[in-house]
Amino acid sequence: MSVIIEGTEISNKIQDRIKVEVKNCMIRPSVAVIQVGENEAGDYFITAKEKVCSSVGIYFRQYKFEDNVPELTIINKIKELNNDEYVNGIMIQLPLPPQYNEKRLLNTINNGKDVEGLTDINTGRFVNGKKALIPCTALAVVKILDENNIEISGKHVVVVGRSKIVGKPLVNLLLSRDATVTICHSKTENLKEFTKQGDIVIMACGVPKLLTEDMIKNDAVVIDVGINNVDGNICGDVDFDNVSKKTSYITPVPNGVGPVTIAMLLENIIMCYNAKKSK
Ligand code: NAD
Repeated sequence: MSVIIEGTEISNKIQDRIKVEVKNCMIRPSVAVIQVGENEAGDYFITAKEKVCSSVGIYFRQYKFEDNVPELTIINKIKELNNDEYVNGIMIQLPLPPQYNEKRLLNTINNGKDVEGLTDINTGRFVNGKKALIPCTALAVVKILDENNIEISGKHVVVVGRSKIVGKPLVNLLLSRDATVTICHSKTENLKEFTKQGDIVIMACGVPKLLTEDMIKNDAVVIDVGINNVDGNICGDVDFDNVSKKTSYITPVPNGVGPVTIAMLLENIIMCYNAKKSK
């Protein structure tokens, strides 16, 4: 029988702890999000982040720009937030409209306020094993494995997806925990040949129900990062109903990785707050 891992339970536990930490803060921690243009998915994620931040007492500021605003206006806002001592974290809701230079905007964020771990400096520090802010979804996947006492060291973990916010940081985290890691992507030929070998298979490619039961070995652990909207219904990258018959542990979508990702964001905000306090 497969264990269905409820991400909400893990997330609530973390939120309860952070609520107490925030209560004991002299100054209320605060995070700012920058949104450019209209984006339904972006609105959804920002609302979810705002709800959780507010519920633990973190002040949430939102700055919304039209998609015809000059890039310099956004850069100036980020610089203003960098210099605002009451702002502990800064996020840019991705993806940005194509006319903006995402890399330039992300790298304008002060590294100590980069709560999503996406500046080149934080990425470089992380890859080189130095203290850094790490992307929240990658942290969430490892948190889920740890909370369920699923061994990582020595296991073969197959990650499907190589994006800078999920797949790549995940590979680094898993390597730092002594896993043997295979990373697959859109150009991988015969994906099944790889996923079949995984003790742990992590799906993060945004292709609805791509992983089917014939693609895993018996008792594999399957973590589904994907969030896809198919005709108004949310589903992951895993054919959950069939794959779950064969797994030892599996995360559902929704209520799997998503809520833990937001909990990891809270942890990163508090990390930034504490780092500033100790300066
Ligand atoms: P992305 O589009 O940036 O990257 C997708 C990756 O999947 C790419 O590396 C691509 O090579 C790979 N890929 C695409 N099609 C593939 C295929 N057929 N076979 C193998 N690999 C393939 O996406 P992303 O930002 O990394 O997000 C991936 C998924 O995770 C999306 O569904 C997104 O909504 C979801 N997501 C969830 C959370 C969460 O908190 N649960 C957070 C971030 C992203």
